[in-house]
Amino acid sequence: MKIYKAAIIGLGPSGLAVNKILYGDSSIEIIAFENEDINNRDNFFGFWLTEWMKPFENIIEKKWHKWSIGDKNINITHSSGEKPYCVISFKKWKNYCLKTKNKLKIKNKKVVNYLPVKNYFKIITADNNEYYAEKIYDSRSIKEKKDELLQHFFGINITVADNTFDENKLTLMHFTKEKNLLHFIYVLPFSHNKALVESTVFSKKVLKKNWYREKINDYLGEKNISDYKENSTEIGIIPMFFAEEKNSPRSNIFNIGIRGGACKPSTGYAFSFLIKQIQLLKNSKKNYVNIHKFLERKMDKIFINFLKNNNEDGQSFIKLASNLNGNEFQSFMMGESNFLTKLKIIKSMPKLPFIKELFKIR
Ligand SMILES: Cc1cc2nc3c(=O)[nH]c(=O)nc-3n(C[C@H](O)[C@H](O)[C@H](O)COP(=O)(O)OP(=O)(O)OC[C@H]3O[C@@H](n4cnc5c(N)ncnc54)[C@H](O)[C@@H]3O)c2cc1C
Repeated sequence: MKIYKAAIIGLGPSGLAVNKILYGDSSIEIIAFENEDINNRDNFFGFWLTEWMKPFENIIEKKWHKWSIGDKNINITHSSGEKPYCVISFKKWKNYCLKTKNKLKIKNKKVVNYLPVKNYFKIITADNNEYYAEKIYDSRSIKEKKDELLQHFFGINITVADNTFDENKLTLMHFTKEKNLLHFIYVLPFSHNKALVESTVFSKKVLKKNWYREKINDYLGEKNISDYKENSTEIGIIPMFFAEEKNSPRSNIFNIGIRGGACKPSTGYAFSFLIKQIQLLKNSKKNYVNIHKFLERKMDKIFINFLKNNNEDGQSFIKLASNLNGNEFQSFMMGESNFLTKLKIIKSMPKLPFIKELFKIR
């Protein structure tokens, strides 16, 4: 009976990060379980360049020093010299994390359960096989929950006529007016004629693919882009609620990624935070690290409750963007804002609904 030093459940970005960051420089043999074919997965993960993301600079696909937030009437442009918005593709992240000194055995199987036996765990897969490991890194997560908000989106990677896009500026949020829905378009111009154009909604229910397609076409129509070649699509659901599984009472079970609380629920950003989580775990004796600071978590909760209970159409985001400069805005998005920026954020929000939500949170 072989007992591995560790087992990773799920080879999404966080499971991959465990292999690279925690075991990559060792000669330890570990095992990973993944029930999908990750070679079919590709999408882009965006983040602002922070200190903890600098070690991965050479796999960044593209950096933008300017981004815009607005609607059809207003357009706020932010810029940041040192902390640009960056994207890494899943494919590059996967290849980077799988290129290591350690041995990783990958089983394309679904884990149905694991239980403690003496000082190790028995892992049971859907085909009724058993595997054994001393530590478990679990990244399975619940993406949807009744009455909770979700960030759901559909995007297309397109090629258009030359010189259509300004490749130096990305559209972070272009809000459109929808009935009882918060909707915006996100555009990543990779070059003058290639971009990812995504339609994103914050609501409790996921919509049919055609709905997002229609919004993308409306947006492209407004920009006089009628002729394009669709190269690929990406689709996703990100929970806008805090994960429940965060902390395991067993010291050798590590909940990682979204399951371990890496997602900043008010924005859906998780990629750079789950990397920070694994980096922090490397230097911690505990099986759980707090990625988001106490005050940031409280502010997130208030903001999500505000979104749940009010028909927000993007104006609060636009007001926030107009009250902050690029560096302040990115520091807020990356959970690194100072006291003064926090005050500016609070000042930007609609007062009465926020005071109401403040008294509701526990
Ligand atoms: C299309 C898309 C775009 C995104 N863009 C951004 C972005 O721009 N910036 C950002 O910060 N965040 C982004 N996110 C959010 C977040 O970074 C991702 O959701 C990220 O994939 C979370 O990583 P994870 O490892 O926690 O979970 P996952 O990626 O969900 O990985 C978990 C893995 O476990 C596997 N699994 C599940 N159950 C089992 C089981 N029982 N047995 C074996 N394997 C199992 C799954 O197949 C999956 O591969 C995006 C998400 C999506 C879906």
